[in-house]
Amino acid sequence: MSSNPIAETVAALMPRAREELTELVAFKSVADFDQFPRSESEAAAGWITAALRAEGFQDVAVLDTPDGTQSVYGYLPGPVGAKTVLLYAHYDVQPPLDEAAWTTPPFELTERDGRWYGRGSADCKGGVIMHLLALRALKADGGVPVNVKVIVEGSEEQGTGGLERYAEQHPDLLTADTIVIGDAGNFRVGLPTVTTTLRGMTMMRVRIDTLEGNLHSGQFGGAAPDALGALIRVLDSLRAEDGSTTVDGLTDDSRWQGLQYDDAQFRQDAKVLDGVALIGSGTVADRIWARPAVTVIGIDCPPVVGATPSVQASARALISLRVPPGVDAAEATKLLQAHLEAHTPWGARVSTEQVGQGQAFSADTSSPAYAAMAEAMAVAFPGQEMQYAGQGGSIPLCNTLAALYPRAEILLIGLSEPEAQIHAVDESVSPQELERLSVAEALFLRTYAAS
Ligand SMILES: [Zn+2]
Repeated sequence: MSSNPIAETVAALMPRAREELTELVAFKSVADFDQFPRSESEAAAGWITAALRAEGFQDVAVLDTPDGTQSVYGYLPGPVGAKTVLLYAHYDVQPPLDEAAWTTPPFELTERDGRWYGRGSADCKGGVIMHLLALRALKADGGVPVNVKVIVEGSEEQGTGGLERYAEQHPDLLTADTIVIGDAGNFRVGLPTVTTTLRGMTMMRVRIDTLEGNLHSGQFGGAAPDALGALIRVLDSLRAEDGSTTVDGLTDDSRWQGLQYDDAQFRQDAKVLDGVALIGSGTVADRIWARPAVTVIGIDCPPVVGATPSVQASARALISLRVPPGVDAAEATKLLQAHLEAHTPWGARVSTEQVGQGQAFSADTSSPAYAAMAEAMAVAFPGQEMQYAGQGGSIPLCNTLAALYPRAEILLIGLSEPEAQIHAVDESVSPQELERLSVAEALFLRTYAAS
């Protein structure tokens, strides 16, 4: 990599990158203004605005999005007739949780054992720096060969959908040939990875009623239909013996074709207790990236303390269903609803209510953009081949962009590898990852421009 001018420039820019990330991490830009002042987010947005202007971006604007937060936009024109690439990151961060539990203060970027610790260092302020480094390296070596749009969101972690709504209301703003979402991460440090699929999800409330009111379990129990008992049976019907998700009519045998996730590694990452089995069938990658997963995330029933000997008249649960790529979330919602109704025992009354839904995402890995990224990653990570991973969760903005710009290719890369511990106490970024991914992004833009 030493003979590569892009890599040399990025290496020389790393001390400045560290100073900039230190400044950016110092803003307590949690987009929950009951917890942290709005001025912290505004200051972070101002910092990014100034950074884009300094790089020669035009039309730099702070966008007031419908959820009351701000995203920062900028446009850097390339050569005439060049392709357009949209680079995404977000400057808002998760709250630090228990500040006292951090080894060093969460909003002070601190080096320890070769990593830089601080809230947002990886997710996703490091992503902002990665985009800046890539563009600076290209400028120092012949120029940026594509039109670049940058969008830095201000409320990604809150899930309030501000930028999604704004993009829908201004559909021309973010048009691009390719979109690089800098908010994912390598499967592990040093292993270049693109995230090619995201599961969708649907959430449903189910309520079961059997009686006009609760009854004494001694006097009536045994014949009186117990709503909580009925609910337990319905919920149990959503799983096979091995714990696989079984929703009638929903495909549950898809295979993951990319990177595989070692069982022992998964047990360790998931902190599974000794002697407890993993659930589901197929490989771990099949289970978490390619197949549906149901989770009961809440039940309304009497708490143990203070419970009385009663047969319950009603019971309620909230169910999350992760929807694999290739399955329409609306279709999965209908199947789940029909399943819950069909499996409710004893003629109990059942009602369901959908409370949230997001589509799965699947990239076209045969596109020129993927070929260009694979080439770039192989140079930036010598000796390594780019891997395809999935993500079990969803990124709603990804679906919004995919729906608005169906011809644009979307690539998910970033700094959130497992050691980064994003969203947790002691979040950190690997400076080597920042360096290599910035090199990869610069080389990607160059290779893609020529494709
Ligand atoms: Zn993020």
